[in-house]
Formats: sequence, C-alpha cells, structure tokens
Amino acid sequence: MKTKTLGEKIKQERGKKKLSLRKFAETLGISAAYQVDIEKDRRQPNEELLQKAADLLDIPISEFDEFMPSLPKPVKEWIGKNPLIGKVIELLNRAPSPEDTIKQFERSLSKSTVRKYPIAIYESELQSIGLDSASWETETGGDLFGIWGDIPVVYFASKAGPKAQRDHAHFRLDIEYLIHLSIVLEKDWGLRYFGDWHSHHSLGLNSPSNGDKKRIVSVADKNHFDEMAEFIITFNTSGIDKKRKIKINPYLYLDLPSSRLTDAIIIVVKGISPVRSALLAASSLPEQQLDSYGSFPIENLSIPREPIGRVSGADGNSVAQFSERLVNKIATELATISHGNIEIYHKSFGHVLVVPVNDKEYVAFAHDKTWPHYMLQADWINRRNGSITEIDINTDGISLLNLSEIKKMFVDIKNIRAEIEK
Ligand SMILES: [Zn+2]
Repeated sequence: MKTKTLGEKIKQERGKKKLSLRKFAETLGISAAYQVDIEKDRRQPNEELLQKAADLLDIPISEFDEFMPSLPKPVKEWIGKNPLIGKVIELLNRAPSPEDTIKQFERSLSKSTVRKYPIAIYESELQSIGLDSASWETETGGDLFGIWGDIPVVYFASKAGPKAQRDHAHFRLDIEYLIHLSIVLEKDWGLRYFGDWHSHHSLGLNSPSNGDKKRIVSVADKNHFDEMAEFIITFNTSGIDKKRKIKINPYLYLDLPSSRLTDAIIIVVKGISPVRSALLAASSLPEQQLDSYGSFPIENLSIPREPIGRVSGADGNSVAQFSERLVNKIATELATISHGNIEIYHKSFGHVLVVPVNDKEYVAFAHDKTWPHYMLQADWINRRNGSITEIDINTDGISLLNLSEIKKMFVDIKNIRAEIEK
C-alpha cells in the first residue's frame, strides 16, 4: 500500500514490526489516544518524538521527510540564512498555546520604542533649575539629591556653589560646596547625591558628553552608586531671558560602572518639595535662595513627561519617611529645653509629642498627619491626677517645620502655668 500521510506511514511501519498500538505508544512515552491521533493525522509528532518513533521502527528518520509539510523554497532559504527562525519555530512548537505566543510576539513587536524609565521630581525643583538656567548666559548647573526607590525621586535640585566656574565652553561644579550640601542633606533628610543638572548652552548637544559620562562613572565608582541621573539643559533662544523656553533632557545611568545611558521620562510631582520647605523654614542654605523658584513659570519648561495614568503616587511613601524624620528632629530639639525625653505617639489623625515640664506635668502637641503637619491643639497633662486640659493658645499656621515657634510656645505655656499656680 502506498501511504499518503505521515500518520498512515507510521501505522504501516508499526504493522510491519508487529507492534501493538498500546505497546508502541507506551515505549514512546505517550498515551494510546495520542498515538491514535498521530496515526489519523489529527496531531503532528514533534521532531524528538518522530526520531524516537523512527528508532523504534528501525527506519531512518528521513523516511518521514516526504510526509512532512513542505515549505516554499524561499521560506526554506530564509530559515537557512537566519538560524534564529528555527529557534522561533521550536519555541512555538513547544508553547502550550502557539496562538497566544504569536499574540505576545505581535504585542511586543508593536511597541516599537524602548520603554523610558521614569524619574519623579517636584515642581519646585524643576522651577529652580529653570530659573537658574535662564539667569546665566554662560553654562551653568547644580546637583540633584533624592531617594532611589522603585521610582527615583528628586527632592532637591541645587544651584551651583559659590566657587563654581561658569564659562562659555563648560561648567565646573564647586566640589567643596557639593560635599557640604551632601552632608547636610544626607544627615537630616536621608537624601543621596543623584548626579547633576547642567546646561549645554553653546554646546547644543542634548545628551551628556563623553566628559560628563566619565565624571558620572567616576563619582559612582567612588561612592558605590549603582544608579545616577543627569539632566542636560538646552535652550530655544540665546541670551538672558527669563521667559525663554528651557528644555530638560533627563538621562539615567542604570548599569554603572557602564556609561550606557537610559532615556528617562519625568513624573512631575505637584508643589514644593518637602525637603525644600523644611530647609526654607529652618533658614538653612541661604546662599541657595530657596524661595526664588516661584518666580519661574513651570510652563516655560519643556519636559518629556510621563503620560498621565501610567504611574501614580510616586511620592506618597517617601513623604512618610520625611515626616518620621521631621517628628524625630523636633523631638530631639525640644528635649534640649524640656525636663526629659519627649514621648512620640503616632495616631490615626497624626502625631503627638508629649514634652515634660517636670516629673508630673507635660505639654502635648498634636499635629495633623499630612505634610507639613500643622498643629491641631496643645494640651496640659497632669499625670498625678490624670487630667488633660486643652491650652488656650493660637496654633494657626504653625507646623512641624516651625521648630523655633514650637520651642517658643512650649516656653510660653510653661511660664503661663507657673503664673497660674502661684
Ligand atoms: Zn555636559
């Protein structure tokens, strides 16, 4: 009998060897039902199974060739030239659902552009970069500080230090000043140096130069940083003009010590950075003119923005850690003028600081849970008789950022109580 299909051929050869269907299937390691399907050409055995069958039937595998689906010549040639195609076919052959696998291929191929990596930065920091860039006709720059979580967040973008060198060809940071800034920001706020921002005013290049890359790689190496950021600033017009459009080109180094760049996309976090607001309230870093950012309109910045909806809540968790630091900092400062250590309670409405006046009496300051933690009320606590009395004092506009006001309030309350008790 002249066989026409692969199934028929296998059945015929099996008959010649006098092998039962069941025995044959068992030796091949497949079910009898599967073997029936193969012989009725309802399923195609894969290459490995076919080889086993050929061995069992004592025939060369090439005997099956004429029954295999024939490919058009150009396709065969194409596969010959591109060995990876064979791999794709193999993957599809092994896939539990080749249809789904094809759909996955299609989906990934349709994403023609490489996904950009997000970096979040507060509006105030972008404005500060914009203002400083617009104020110089020479190259300028500064530093980026933040916390590198799932999404890196920039909490402070500084202006250059007093000894920075700005000229028409390049910009050199004030290293001594940078070290000073790094210490302040790390100790109080847990921020680390992320990299820098600087203009390519006359250079016109909208990505880091080879020199920039070398510097970043070396800084990362010294500090054991795995990731760094670099923002390159370019302009649409020359000369000093606070209204000119300023373009921020953000890049990330994610494979340090390799200097390979990843295009970044910016998530703009609304409002003022909690770190900037805290530094402002404490009158720290006066040389940075921390409150000047507001004069630069955010609309004058051109930024590759994250499409709305892809990422949300970039700052939520990290602000909580600043709150924690702020509460602890205030407690440490209050302890210097109180009768003993400060007790801190975290409540659903916010934070309570209990400040001892003497062995039995305390002042409790209750603060709202959201940054910058406005004071809700102050209470007088007597632990000997268990009484709690709200103190009649104006707490409007006083937040945890206002350390000196809180200290003054504590002293005032102490003095008033001493008067009452006389
Ligand atoms: Zn540069």
